[in-house]
Amino acid sequence: MAKEKKKDGKESRYAYKKKSAWEILTKEQIKKAFAFSENYKKFLNEAKTERESINFIQNAAKKAKKKNFVNKDKEAAIIIPGKKPISDGLRIIISHIDSPRLDLKQVPIYEESSCNCALFETHYYGGIKKFHWVVIPLAIHGVVITKNGKKINFNIGEKETDPVFAVPDLLPHLSHKVQDEKKMDEAITGESLDIIIGSEPIKGDYSDKIKTAIVEKLFKDYGIIEEDFISAELEAVPAFKAKDLGFDLSMVAAYGQDDRVCAYSSLQAILNIEKPENTCVALFVDKEEIGSEGNTTAQVTAFLRTIIRQIDPKVDIDGIMLKSKVISADVNAAVTPNYTEVFELKNASTLGYGVVMSKFTGHGGKYNANDASAEYVGEIRNILNKNKIPWQTAELGKVDNGGGGTVAKYFSRLGMEVIDLGPAVMSMHATYEITSKVDVYSAYLAYKAFFKN
Ligand code: MN
Ligand code: MN
Repeated sequence: MAKEKKKDGKESRYAYKKKSAWEILTKEQIKKAFAFSENYKKFLNEAKTERESINFIQNAAKKAKKKNFVNKDKEAAIIIPGKKPISDGLRIIISHIDSPRLDLKQVPIYEESSCNCALFETHYYGGIKKFHWVVIPLAIHGVVITKNGKKINFNIGEKETDPVFAVPDLLPHLSHKVQDEKKMDEAITGESLDIIIGSEPIKGDYSDKIKTAIVEKLFKDYGIIEEDFISAELEAVPAFKAKDLGFDLSMVAAYGQDDRVCAYSSLQAILNIEKPENTCVALFVDKEEIGSEGNTTAQVTAFLRTIIRQIDPKVDIDGIMLKSKVISADVNAAVTPNYTEVFELKNASTLGYGVVMSKFTGHGGKYNANDASAEYVGEIRNILNKNKIPWQTAELGKVDNGGGGTVAKYFSRLGMEVIDLGPAVMSMHATYEITSKVDVYSAYLAYKAFFKN
């Protein structure tokens, strides 16, 4: 075995060992990391959906007087012009602002007379484990477009005085046959994720008295009728707030940290750089969790092309793209207690070891991957080391144990250099995800250093 340290105390060139962010960061930086997380938690509480995130980002950009563009309320870009001409290429950091959730169906309200309650039908969005979504407090966020074309913003379940909603579950006394004997991913079905919304009947001669009472109330409170739900996007999300986790307050537990942790840290990074060499762009896109399908996603280049043309109408866009460098700011999976067997520990990310560099994504045989070049990995690694930013390298799980993708591949198709870089998240895609405060701060430092370079 090679020695880890030489006599002079310098690191050995014979052994690679990742280092804890708690050791690399100075005392002052760790203090800053904790302060950074206070505002990060506020963002997580304020922006639980894609629309709310874009609204937050747009307001922050306006307040900082930074050039910003918004597409259809679901996608945004912030631009900082560089000293060099735009033809020298861009520095882009892209994150996604959607998270797994329960969407309401278009005809959602019904009354279940056998239980005397009214419910919302849902269709889950993104990769969820369905049992995470039962018996937790839910809030409903989103928009309803009324028959007159008015947009009503919905946000119920977040304020202390608001009611919450919940998907009921069966008591253990009776769940033996219908749940316990089944496979975990079959025990709770997609159609059983309906949300209880009321139980008091209206007085008078109506067929569905509880449902009618709810529809009446919605009309009184919001001016919406039942048909309006057809032109609505309503999302049920966990109602709980972002919190510090652990006796030492070293972690953040919250819904939607994939990928709002990267959205927030890249937002703060771009708002805190001035006069970079190359023109910098922070992009925030929607619908990554359903494969980046849709008109406000990483697969649509019209938005980025339009922005580039607004900066310089005569520029050669393809030429710029070939010279541009991109960070796909997305999370990786933190090694999880009790389930370490799904990770290959030398190439896995852990909480507290800094921002995670993932050279490639995809699954079995690197299918559907973006695989960054050694040259580009080297460049990013040097930026991180030069700036003493804690980082680690990882791939998502053991070979052939699954996998996952990010928006990286869509940008690499444009000829850009792209690499994945973001914090590790424990319990990713669960209703309560965990990050380490020093990792969140490392991501912020990394994004800022990338923009500056
Ligand atoms: Mn993600
Ligand atoms: Mn995800």
